[in-house]
Amino acid sequence: MSEAARFSVVVPVYNEENVLPEMYSRLHAVMEALHQPYEIIFVNDGSSDRTFAILNELCEQDHAIKVIDFAKNFGHQTAITAGMDYSEGEAIVVIDADLQDPPEVIPLMIERWNEGYDVVYGKRGERKGETFFKRLSASLFYRLMRKLTDVDIPVDTGDFRLIDRKVCNALKSIKERNRYIRGIISWLGFKQIGVDFCREERFAGETKYPFKKMLKFAFDAITSFSFKPLKLSSYLGMLMSFFSFIYLLFVLYQKLFTNQTVTGWASSMVVNLFFNGIVLMMLGIAGEYIGRIYDETKGRPLYVVRQVKNFSRNRIERRS
Ligand code: UDP
Ligand code: MG
Repeated sequence: MSEAARFSVVVPVYNEENVLPEMYSRLHAVMEALHQPYEIIFVNDGSSDRTFAILNELCEQDHAIKVIDFAKNFGHQTAITAGMDYSEGEAIVVIDADLQDPPEVIPLMIERWNEGYDVVYGKRGERKGETFFKRLSASLFYRLMRKLTDVDIPVDTGDFRLIDRKVCNALKSIKERNRYIRGIISWLGFKQIGVDFCREERFAGETKYPFKKMLKFAFDAITSFSFKPLKLSSYLGMLMSFFSFIYLLFVLYQKLFTNQTVTGWASSMVVNLFFNGIVLMMLGIAGEYIGRIYDETKGRPLYVVRQVKNFSRNRIERRS
């Protein structure tokens, strides 16, 4: 029997065959230098390339490596959740596979954890090699979230962070489906602190967050932490009624005191189109919430696992 791991590192991977060997060697070097028992949990999120084969080889060489193989692609946030569910360390580190989050920052996080912090999040200072669009949308997104939510979610932080076992257990009790993990962790409270790091360029391959996934991620984040978009329709409605009333007075004035009636085709078209647009948008926003309510009520499991590697049997049973 090997010793219980003190540190668990959770790595979500989706089609990362080109980065895995380098990722493993850097992470392995960092973890070995700590001289404490650890485990690295790779969560294969339904990759269609050689990712799983590579992970399999790593598992045979190194028993600190564990693999959770999803039955299909369930998404980044779900993969992180699964890794946490299976972890046993006293501290859990979540890190991306593409080396944008440098593994060398982990010892600094552990230092802070030893000082008594429960959550140590990586704060992105500089972002290298990302497109202008990605940086702009990320920056706008974090600031919009700040305006919309009452939870104090630190800006410019991703999921690269260390959390204490207590936090992980609290997180496990939250069964939300469309989850925004960094938001939930902030919501939980605990003693939190950031460490600055420079977000590197992706080591190889391309981003697994195309625009569509980014949009879903943003909607999940906003809808799970704010009702403000729903309130927007009532405010807009009130504002519109006010202006319509003013316009009504104007129309009445024209009708009663002048003789320039029925010249208003253009203006009625504009008003019509404009209002229809607003109404559809508001319906859409309400729909985003309703869809998520529907999703929660179905009560399906968050993810389905095809197989796991290198986990002890009692750990698998304990988890379920
Ligand atoms: N990822 C995942 N499932 C997905 C998309 C991404 O597990 O559906 C993983 C991916 O392999 C990487 C991490 O999540 O380890 C972050 O993804 P990526 O680097 O593509 O996002 P970006 O850094 O561009 O925001
Ligand atoms: Mg990345």
